[in-house]
Amino acid sequence: MDGYYYTVVCILTALLGLCVGSFLNVVIYRLPNNMSLAKPASHCPKCNKEIKWYDNIPVISYIILGGKCRNCGDKISPRYIFVELSNMLLWLVSFFLFFDLSSVYSIIYFATACIACSVCIIIFFIDLEHMIIFDRFQIILLVLAVVATFTDGDSYLTHGIGFVAGFAVFFVVSFFVGKATKKDSLGGGDIKFAAVAGLFLGWKRFILMMLVASISASIVLMIQRNKNGDEKGKEYPFAPFLTVAFVLTMFFGMPIISWYSGILLG
Ligand SMILES: [Zn+2]
Repeated sequence: MDGYYYTVVCILTALLGLCVGSFLNVVIYRLPNNMSLAKPASHCPKCNKEIKWYDNIPVISYIILGGKCRNCGDKISPRYIFVELSNMLLWLVSFFLFFDLSSVYSIIYFATACIACSVCIIIFFIDLEHMIIFDRFQIILLVLAVVATFTDGDSYLTHGIGFVAGFAVFFVVSFFVGKATKKDSLGGGDIKFAAVAGLFLGWKRFILMMLVASISASIVLMIQRNKNGDEKGKEYPFAPFLTVAFVLTMFFGMPIISWYSGILLG
């Protein structure tokens, strides 16, 4: 009987993940442009023609229409299908990693992880394009972090230290880099994100997250500079690296840390 429930929840997770992914596209496009999320109904950004429900089915419509608007034939950004698929994928990974029918905590943590993934997708794309992290998403993450503190099995102290560490690390870094370059290197949004991520993950996984984020950011920046030459004063969004590192560490941080401390302690 358990197998039956798992299959049902798995399929529901995938379908709901796709639909929510479709909604994330609306948020990513409308919020930075100061548009209402509810009205008007979806329309083509080029010709303004309203998109009918049958042309608005996640993934399927995109494939049927060949990635083009039915009315004007303008190309629809592949970001739409990418956001839908990645939200579904991350929800499924959360399901396989965390969902366990025998524990209420694991079910709550599974739901928490799903919402956190979706919020990270929004932050990733809005920061990539507009270099801003909206406070409302930090607040959602903060609530999720409190829930995670009580449901992921790690000690409360670990989470508390993570919270302080998140603030401290970024505060110190941005203070010194700011002194050296006379401008803010890291936005206030990045600091808040680090603090809530520290609370969510606990300090051990937070350190891992910061390593992953800063190493990947350095590599990408190096490649960018090699390609475009040294553009002095050009700012790059950092939240995309933070969010990817956060999700990876949330998923795989625990096994990596126990493997690593196993090596250290023999
Ligand atoms: Zn159109």
